[in-house]
Amino acid sequence: MTFAQLGVPESIVAALAERGITEPFEIQAATIADALAGRDVCGRAPTGSGKTLAFGIPLLARAHAADPHRPRALVLAPTRELAEQISKELKSFAGSARAQIATVYGGVGYGPQLKALRRGVDILVACPGRLEDLIERGAVDLSNVDQIVLDEADRMADMGFMPAVRRLLNQTPDDRQTMLFSATLDGDVAKLTKQYQRNPVHHSVGQETPDIAHAEHLFWNVAKDERMQTAADAVNAVWPAIVFCRTRRGSDRLAKQLGRAGIAAAPIHGGRSQGQRTRALASFSKGKVKALVATDVAARGIHVDGVASVVHYDPPEDLKAYVHRSGRTARAGSGGVVVSLLQPDQVRDAKRIKNKLGIDGALTGPDPALLAGLSESERTARAREPVAVAPKQRTTAAKRDAAPQQRARRRHASNQPGGTRGSKRVPRGSRSANRRAG
Ligand code: ADP
Ligand code: MG
Repeated sequence: MTFAQLGVPESIVAALAERGITEPFEIQAATIADALAGRDVCGRAPTGSGKTLAFGIPLLARAHAADPHRPRALVLAPTRELAEQISKELKSFAGSARAQIATVYGGVGYGPQLKALRRGVDILVACPGRLEDLIERGAVDLSNVDQIVLDEADRMADMGFMPAVRRLLNQTPDDRQTMLFSATLDGDVAKLTKQYQRNPVHHSVGQETPDIAHAEHLFWNVAKDERMQTAADAVNAVWPAIVFCRTRRGSDRLAKQLGRAGIAAAPIHGGRSQGQRTRALASFSKGKVKALVATDVAARGIHVDGVASVVHYDPPEDLKAYVHRSGRTARAGSGGVVVSLLQPDQVRDAKRIKNKLGIDGALTGPDPALLAGLSESERTARAREPVAVAPKQRTTAAKRDAAPQQRARRRHASNQPGGTRGSKRVPRGSRSANRRAG
């Protein structure tokens, strides 16, 4: 199957090929042809499965030139980071299509956003809050929107955006095309589909949570007064790492403590300005900081490639949060390690989560050396094994089997040169090469 066979215009096929993207992922193969034909799409697929192109290609292929203030296509996303990421990806293959793409979100000045809207925006990528704000100021009118995408609809629901999303949808024409993507399709998202989509093509990829099945999950007993040092050791063993705290203040504090322990870390949470977040993410991507210390909400927007480990410093609120946090590593078929630091009174909840997700793996004392080893063998496995990753004693084999698409990608990835020894850092270049190989 190729993009051309799905009906993707030649110019877009070429622009994608230039980025090494030649074969559609499952969700793309399943929805692009229908979306190009104008049908509504309702897709459930895990993080890293390629949803952005699944809607991005039809958006660009069908883009129309917009009048000032009246965008023709609208993408709604829950966080600034995600909105930025989507526009970046769209622009990367917009090539000769020359669609005007702009991004609007809160926490930054209005000037550039207003200016872009005055010029005319064909495809507007927006966070719901700022978009409503701009509509109120008379800078945006949605009555010309003929395509709308709700990306990460479940997260928008989690973050309380549903009322705003509905108000926005209500301002668009009834005969628009509506594409909805989400990691889960129950609750509020199901209602949204029922109310706002017309006979959508439904497509689900893998299990609800297959992406965390690609990680190794460890559970460590840690006394309260050793927790900081253990987190430091874990990050030092395997990074880039994302460390999760319950509160903003806790994140700030831990980032400072890690810094004092010699580990460059940056906090990222809703209390930080857009500039601070952008800088933190940039330093992290460049490897200047080894760890991001994040709260749950902030983490939703973090889509950094090649995160080698996730540390649950404070326990997740529930199973969903565990999956969500852990899903920051082992994205798009690559490996990763997930460590939970558990104080005695936190063990019971962790066990419950473990059982529900079918993760075995004992509760042990801290073992950063094992952590480093796992990460290392993960990389060597990908570098050496010519064909499938053997069903070794991975807790996750069963789940991986349930996600044939991802397994296939992984197999491909095994043919690529992998990491080197010594440095604990996962070489980003090889990771992205691996991913593209899918
Ligand atoms: P999701 O939105 O489902 O979490 P993304 O759209 O962010 O996933 O895609 C994850 C990564 O996979 C991105 O880096 C993207 O460029 C890459 N990707 C997407 N589709 C393909 C493809 N068909 N071939 C190779 N890489 C792809
Ligand atoms: Mg996405």
